[in-house]
Amino acid sequence: MSFRHWLLVALAVLAGLFLLTLVAVLFFRHAQRQLLKRAQHLEWHDNLTALPNRQVFASRLDQVLQIAQAEPQHISALLKINLDGFKRVNDAGGHAAGDRLLIAAAACLRENIRERDTVSRLGADEFTLLLVQVGRSRDYAASNAMRVARKLNNLLADTCIDVDGVSFHARASIGLTLLHQGVEDADRLLYHTDLAMQQVKANGGGGCEFYNANIQNEVERRMQLEQDLTRAVGTPQLWMAVQPQFDRDGATVGAELLMRWQHPTQGAVPPDVFIPLAEEVDLIHKLTYWSIDVACESAIALQNWGLPYTLSVNISPRCLTSSDFVGFVKDTLDRWGLPGQRLVFEITERIWIRDIEIVQQAMQALSQLGIQLAVDDFGSGYANLAYLKYLPLSELKIDKSLVQEIPYDAHSTAISSFIIMLGQQLQMRVIAEGVETRTQSLYLYSKGCNAQQGFLYARPMPVADWLALQYGSARHANG
Ligand code: C2E
Ligand code: CA
Ligand code: CA
Repeated sequence: MSFRHWLLVALAVLAGLFLLTLVAVLFFRHAQRQLLKRAQHLEWHDNLTALPNRQVFASRLDQVLQIAQAEPQHISALLKINLDGFKRVNDAGGHAAGDRLLIAAAACLRENIRERDTVSRLGADEFTLLLVQVGRSRDYAASNAMRVARKLNNLLADTCIDVDGVSFHARASIGLTLLHQGVEDADRLLYHTDLAMQQVKANGGGGCEFYNANIQNEVERRMQLEQDLTRAVGTPQLWMAVQPQFDRDGATVGAELLMRWQHPTQGAVPPDVFIPLAEEVDLIHKLTYWSIDVACESAIALQNWGLPYTLSVNISPRCLTSSDFVGFVKDTLDRWGLPGQRLVFEITERIWIRDIEIVQQAMQALSQLGIQLAVDDFGSGYANLAYLKYLPLSELKIDKSLVQEIPYDAHSTAISSFIIMLGQQLQMRVIAEGVETRTQSLYLYSKGCNAQQGFLYARPMPVADWLALQYGSARHANG
């Protein structure tokens, strides 16, 4: 081969090597850029939902606040979105189920806002949303922001996941506040949305509300009460009352346990106030377990004195639908050596609309333990009579709001007698609660009501006092 030939080959090899190096360098750069991008994404986004994280949100919020200082017509809205009943999902299906619901909720929020808005996950089941420039006047901005909040809440309520055949929806409570000239403190804004969101929760959740100063007082009062309740658990401040139930001959047939809280400075706090609070702060399991324990202990004492009464315990919906509830009940019955038949669990019908499948499973398992199940507050306006067919129920409790209108309100009187008839047809016991007058009592018994409780017979009293009375009468009866 000639020299020229060798030169050409050498040049070709060199060119090849050069190209190869170039491709390698380009490839390496690309891979590096991808890695950097990924690292940045991880640094700026929430791992689970891939939404922008807290830092990104904070810097976006600062930016918008600065613009608002310079431009009076630049009005934005800040929203805090907290899923309702999220703990129920974790209770029922574990954290994997909770994660799925969060991912679905995040996708719903991201897909339904404008490009310039920012949604971020703050942690747990809490999201924040910044709606940039929602209006040129405060009124207009407020109504626009409210419209968006309501739309998102409807979309979230339609978003659901399936856990063992049961649907869980991403219904939320949303607190809102406006960002405009003169408002500078980002933390304060977030705090205000939080207060408004908590106000929505306190009203039962599933709504949207703007922050105002009244909300602040109300929420602070409630937060104080929550702390006080947490401290009260396990102290004599919380105690158990009991209200006896009688049959038409005036004989005791059982009693209902009712919890009491004696607050050190505020006096007696009604259970209608502190039970929902206990559900909010996750104390309700502890309290319900305590009441079941008291019921078992009392039932054993009664049994030893030859008194086969049933004791009724109010079961919070959150407990009934939690996965470890039935196990706890079984262990407690075993520990006390008490047959399940001696307990009645009262469950308000209000919850069944939402979690009917889980409720059905739990009820089936409880009734296999012998526990009797009662519908509390029956006739209070939420009933879907179809469920009576496929739930293992043995008792209907006529709501006291109906009983108390007998005989003055024709509707309540008719509904009460209809409930008694329904119970008879379905072979369920019917108990009337809140019986205050002889007229109410006579009317209900004339229709075939099986038992009654109410101020006419006895007010709720400390468990120990009632047990002492029963002990006295058992001894008397035995001579
Ligand atoms: P509830 O289960 O419907 O309880 C019956 C309520 O009627 C009790 O109110 C009782 O004191 C009251 N009551 C009984 N007889 C009469 C009467 O003749 N007239 C009037 N006006 N009221 C009467 P209380 O003790 O204030 O409890 C309110 C609610 O708080 C209960 O309604 C129940 O839903 C809840 N609650 C009470 N104790 C517990 C508990 O240990 N666990 C749970 N989860 N909830 C409880
Ligand atoms: Ca009850
Ligand atoms: Ca009731």
